[in-house]
Amino acid sequence: MDYRKRFAVEPGTRVQLGKIDAAFRDKHESHETAMPEIQKPLERMAKLQYLLYADGNQSLLVVLQALDAGGKDGVVRHVFSAMNPQGTSVFGFKQPSRLEATHDFLWRAHLRAPGKGEVVIFNRSHYEDVLVVRVHKLVPTAVWSKRYELINDFEKMLGQNGTRILKFYLHITRQEQLARFKQRLDDPLRHWKISETDYLERELWPDYIEAFEDAVERTSTKHAPWYVIPSNHKWFRNLAISEIVADTLEEMDLKLPTTRVDIAEIRRKYHLAAERQDQKLSKTPVKR
Ligand code: AMP
Ligand code: MG
Repeated sequence: MDYRKRFAVEPGTRVQLGKIDAAFRDKHESHETAMPEIQKPLERMAKLQYLLYADGNQSLLVVLQALDAGGKDGVVRHVFSAMNPQGTSVFGFKQPSRLEATHDFLWRAHLRAPGKGEVVIFNRSHYEDVLVVRVHKLVPTAVWSKRYELINDFEKMLGQNGTRILKFYLHITRQEQLARFKQRLDDPLRHWKISETDYLERELWPDYIEAFEDAVERTSTKHAPWYVIPSNHKWFRNLAISEIVADTLEEMDLKLPTTRVDIAEIRRKYHLAAERQDQKLSKTPVKR
């Protein structure tokens, strides 16, 4: 199945998250039976990222958004670990720092956007400024409601400069979120990941869903599409995202740079000479 077609939000269409099956897992019975399928796109991603880096003319920006416990960290760990850390980076968007808050809301996103040849993953993103900011009324409606257009213009500009943008909303149900909170309570290694705020934010679920639906509807564009990824099954989420990333990179027509040197001549003139010299050196007795 072409997951890009299946999960992309067509520009201008209304999204009703409540109607999208968060537990969808395509034809796969279980994580175990899907295993061979999961490995393939990860290998493709690794090869293609090498090409993106070598090519050096384009870049990839991946935006991850979700409600708490939606799996953003899991995607970074399981999907993007397939890529070489040289040329890949992750940036997590927290509450704006003092410095960040003195600038426009896109400043920190622009600062971290990928340079040519790079892949950057945004764990949360400039979309927080139409999500948490809207839900908690941190700025007036007149301010956040103008941001969709600003975001579209910003992403269009990045696109024209050679950046492909993929935006993923990790879609989970309320029940799944609660189950994941419970796992955090039960696992001392994950206690640091849970707090009262998670339960308080959960009470605002309908407000967040409304904010997500509006954001996705108003900012899914041809050059920077949103994908709503069924994410109750973590392994399916990883499979879908890695296939979409690999398919996108494949489409970018990445090429190894043309060789500027004469390889045959280097082999003949320099390499063979160096080998001969090393042979000679190894036969020379070491002076004491
Ligand atoms: P975490 O992703 O769990 O490390 O949490 C980061 C926190 O920063 C979340 O509660 C976000 O909602 C919050 N955050 C991120 N961006 C903004 C923003 N622009 N304004 C307010 N809060 C934000
Ligand atoms: Mg959190």
